[in-house]
Amino acid sequence: VLHKSTGEVTKKKPKFLAKGQNALIELQTQRPIALELYKDFKELGRFMLRYSGSTIAAGVVTEVEAAVKAAKDAFPIWSSKTPLERSQILNKLADLIERDLEAFAQAESKDQGKTITFARTVDIPRAVHNFRFFASSILHHVTECTEMPSMGCVHYTSRAPVGVAGLISPWNLPLYLLTWKIAPAIACGNTVVAKPSEMTSVTAWMMCKLLEKGGVPPGVVNVVFGTGAKAGEALVCHPDVPLISFTGSTLTAQRITERSAPHCKRLSLELGGKNPAIIFDDADLSQCIPTTVRSSFANQGEICLCTSRIFVQRGIYSEFLKRFVAEAKKWKTGNPSDPSTDVGALISKEHLEKVRNYVKKAQAEGARVLCGEGVDPLALPPGNQKGYFMLPTVIVEVKDESCCMQEEIFGPVTCVVAFDTEEEVIQRANGVKYGLAATIWSSNVGRVHRVAHRLQSGLVWTNCWLVRDLNLPFGGMKASGIGREGAKDSYEFFTEVKTITIKH
Ligand code: NAD
Repeated sequence: VLHKSTGEVTKKKPKFLAKGQNALIELQTQRPIALELYKDFKELGRFMLRYSGSTIAAGVVTEVEAAVKAAKDAFPIWSSKTPLERSQILNKLADLIERDLEAFAQAESKDQGKTITFARTVDIPRAVHNFRFFASSILHHVTECTEMPSMGCVHYTSRAPVGVAGLISPWNLPLYLLTWKIAPAIACGNTVVAKPSEMTSVTAWMMCKLLEKGGVPPGVVNVVFGTGAKAGEALVCHPDVPLISFTGSTLTAQRITERSAPHCKRLSLELGGKNPAIIFDDADLSQCIPTTVRSSFANQGEICLCTSRIFVQRGIYSEFLKRFVAEAKKWKTGNPSDPSTDVGALISKEHLEKVRNYVKKAQAEGARVLCGEGVDPLALPPGNQKGYFMLPTVIVEVKDESCCMQEEIFGPVTCVVAFDTEEEVIQRANGVKYGLAATIWSSNVGRVHRVAHRLQSGLVWTNCWLVRDLNLPFGGMKASGIGREGAKDSYEFFTEVKTITIKH
């Protein structure tokens, strides 16, 4: 594996490594190969993986234990600080990330494959906002107090931080989602052990470098890098971590639920989606079409909130489709570092293959691909021929029971189907295991309320997409998750409530 002189990569176990020994294994190779080799060598002890020019530590149980201990030791002091003191530190962290916004955005784009424009305008500004938002919202929670004069009692509730919070985040919005967990957890007075995705750890590491300058005392925020199977599970199973906030796939959430059950841990699970957009014949198509193209293909379709099933009322189906495909074709796929690029690279070769296979399966079932994968040539600029690129792809004539209409694809692929009645579309939109984010397009206010009320979806956007007020609950129903995140919801999740009764 370690043939620096010849550049050769082999799977042969280096003789000098004994089990349990600390090793530095350097893999100058592509990420998928590195991860595959990691599986072969993981029994050998600690090591580092180096690929695509960056190096991350592959933390194991011992690193998680050290991090939890540090967090546990820091808890008494951090939890006894006033909300205002904690708020000031959060604001300072926000300022530091904002100061380095460009460096963070460059790193996020290079590491994840997302466009530099998306990283500059969405990912990193939102990470900054996460810290500012919870710095402010922590100052506005009030305790409830009631009196029962007949019994001579006064009752009130008090809330206290829970302890060491375990935070696990995915690769699609790396710093955005990690800070969406760290900020409320520490604002409430908890200390944390966070594990970013092993696919995208760079900006988490960059954030760690700012903690001390931001005034975060040692041990309050600990980040353990590593895979889910090793570092993630060690965190989930650790007896001194009473709560886990997880964002990722439904499959992983099932595993986390099982592994944490013996400890009766408090869980927040933000999971996948199969999000419908419902377009009625009275929709304003001039707004609806560009927004639905964006909701389908933004961040390469790698957002849990992306639209992947578009239901269009039959009267406007043909016109919608024509204009939608024309708009999708305008989206430029290619070099993520070019500010004019709309669709960057997918996260990995495996993921690209998985997304492509969905398109192939749909075609095998009789569906038609109108643009994108397999239809239009992928024209990459000279010098940018490498990378896991895929054009925005629109599929039609696809059945509701097809895997493309049922399973989360998590790529730049969307299916467009026709419907006739309101009742029918509600049933069809609800006919999947997920329930995260739906979008309705109509100018009939009564209909919008009726349909929104009946959709099985944690979020329902009307005549817009991805408009968020962080005060309001965020999260999904059914296989899309358990619990909600947001000002009040995160506060409730990251604190323990007590009811205190005092007889006068
Ligand atoms: P994933 O479930 O594979 O991984 C998420 C995180 O969990 C990673 O840090 C991973 O290392 C860790 N992990 C994996 N196995 C683990 C285990 N056994 N124990 C503990 N941790 C483990 O998800 P992903 O592929 O990184 O992200 C894509 C998924 O995330 C999609 O399904 C997407 O819809 C979902 N997502 C949901 C939201 C939301 O808010 N609902 C937001 C973004 C992404």
